[in-house]
Amino acid sequence: MENLKNRIQQLKKKRPGYGEILDFYQKVKEAQDKTKASLEIDPIKLKKEWKEILAKEGFSLIEKEDFPLDIGVSVKLFQTLCQIGKEATPHMAEQIKKIEDAIDHKRMDLRKLLKEGVKEQEIEQVAEESELDTTVLSFLIRCSTQPSIEAGVEQLRSDLRPDMWLKGYCPVCGSLPFLSLLKEEVGKRYLLCSYCRYQWRIDRLFCPFCNNKEQGSLHYFHGEGEEIYRMDLCNQCHQYIKTIDLRQMGESDPLLEDLATLHLDILAVQKGYKRPVPNPWIT
Ligand SMILES: [Zn+2]
Ligand SMILES: [Zn+2]
Repeated sequence: MENLKNRIQQLKKKRPGYGEILDFYQKVKEAQDKTKASLEIDPIKLKKEWKEILAKEGFSLIEKEDFPLDIGVSVKLFQTLCQIGKEATPHMAEQIKKIEDAIDHKRMDLRKLLKEGVKEQEIEQVAEESELDTTVLSFLIRCSTQPSIEAGVEQLRSDLRPDMWLKGYCPVCGSLPFLSLLKEEVGKRYLLCSYCRYQWRIDRLFCPFCNNKEQGSLHYFHGEGEEIYRMDLCNQCHQYIKTIDLRQMGESDPLLEDLATLHLDILAVQKGYKRPVPNPWIT
């Protein structure tokens, strides 16, 4: 957490406009971090032969809904995040009051929603019934279950070989990547899963969304004076992924770096490219 706080201070100094959102990020991360000690999740049972077949055939190990969750911890975290969110923006405060009202009057079953929140239609339906902004509800649900999901990935880590997969989707849960990262001295490129946060290796020249490997149709641009952030554009599918060069900044939190460079996303969109998995923090 200390590293995170220091990095947030650095980023805020450089771009004061991001101050509020970065403060909010820090508070949410602190709340999530605190749950780790008390988190208890069921073991994920996978047969050894089964795992080998899945990996060989290019299937991910589990489905998103198969991650075991600690619902008790998630409920408490949800409540803490509601308190944090109320102070973040007026829109969030208004939405959270509506959510709390819906829970109090039994129009919303929080435990059920946390369990089934992985299905987007489920959240959309509940949001519609209580006239809520789906993005806010979905954000709170996702942040509340994230520690459980990451604990599940830790259980599976020894069964995975991050260097061998080389596909555009996550070997653990099959989700699309959220960011790409350059690590280690030679600049190996990794993808970061948008759902479970697992990282796996891919080729340097590769669009994870359409598997394009043609040099001529893969481009990138940097922000001015921001060479550690690269926007990788694909002219085949007209989508992009942000690549963060972690070699020069040591261990940093990729999500935080993404949040502090949303101006680069605006540029990419202006150039006509789409981001398949947007940053969930812009609510
Ligand atoms: Zn994943
Ligand atoms: Zn592409």
